[in-house]
Amino acid sequence: MVTGGVFNIQRYSLHDGPGIRTTVFLKGCPLRCWWCHNPESQDSRTDIVHVSGRCVACGGCREVCPLHDPVFDRTADPEANRCIRCGQCVDACPTEARQYIGKESSDEQLLAELIKDEVFWDESGGGVTVSGGEPLAQPQFLLEILRALKRRGIHTAVDTSGFAPCEALLATVPFTDLYLYDIKLLDARRHELYTGVPNQLILDNLAALAQVHNNLWIRVPVIPGINDSPEELAAIARLARSLPAVRQVNLLPYHNTACHKFGRLGQTYGLPDVKTPGEPDMQAAARPFKELGLLTFSGG
Ligand code: SF4
Ligand code: SF4
Repeated sequence: MVTGGVFNIQRYSLHDGPGIRTTVFLKGCPLRCWWCHNPESQDSRTDIVHVSGRCVACGGCREVCPLHDPVFDRTADPEANRCIRCGQCVDACPTEARQYIGKESSDEQLLAELIKDEVFWDESGGGVTVSGGEPLAQPQFLLEILRALKRRGIHTAVDTSGFAPCEALLATVPFTDLYLYDIKLLDARRHELYTGVPNQLILDNLAALAQVHNNLWIRVPVIPGINDSPEELAAIARLARSLPAVRQVNLLPYHNTACHKFGRLGQTYGLPDVKTPGEPDMQAAARPFKELGLLTFSGG
């Protein structure tokens, strides 16, 4: 039995692979993308958040906090984050304004939870998508989940940033039917600026994976002013076209709905003024891919 950190299970998902899917989000990610939709997934440990809409300002959390420094004060002073995640504020809060994000689960517990949806997968040709965070940040846990699902004949997909040791990625190949492989920027300098990590490992892993697996979907978040220039998108399209294993490209329009999540975690959102691209913008983004005969899909 292996245990790992899980922060959400999303049922009836239609954008994470074929059919109706159950997407399980694992905790922990080595990237720090400015536009991250799931910042609560980044830290591998359980997070404590403050949901301001539920707070009645009773002061109970401050009273019990051993640091007298509830985590939501981080917004004002990010450097002051000394929260030791003791959870006393969660227990003391009368309105559930203080909440845990993520919990430890064994592979067996997680499988038992997932297979409740089996009937939907059977009827729709769906299955389970393991996302994150970066699922390969918990390689053994991921492997055990995939292995258990395949043992039951369930379709599996892994949604990855590709930023992981190559051996960990390739170890999942026998148990994975589809990879959703994120490509954010090919410009190396800008990739490191906006994600916090270089992109060479991601590109090397993509090449290695494409040699041993034949069902990859490239996923590109389209972020105005960051990666939506015709040159950048054309470069990604050429990369996708060069790999026969790439079956389609998904363009995911940026949206800033995660802005409030950063606030709940006491963090500052890096792109507060960027707008969601409209339909004409997404059509323009798809053009370089269509010109190369790539099947594109916008959604998410
Ligand atoms: S979890 Fe953090 S904010 Fe909450 S009581 Fe403990 S130290 Fe304070
Ligand atoms: S205990 Fe809960 S309701 Fe009271 S101030 Fe803290 S977060 Fe708000």
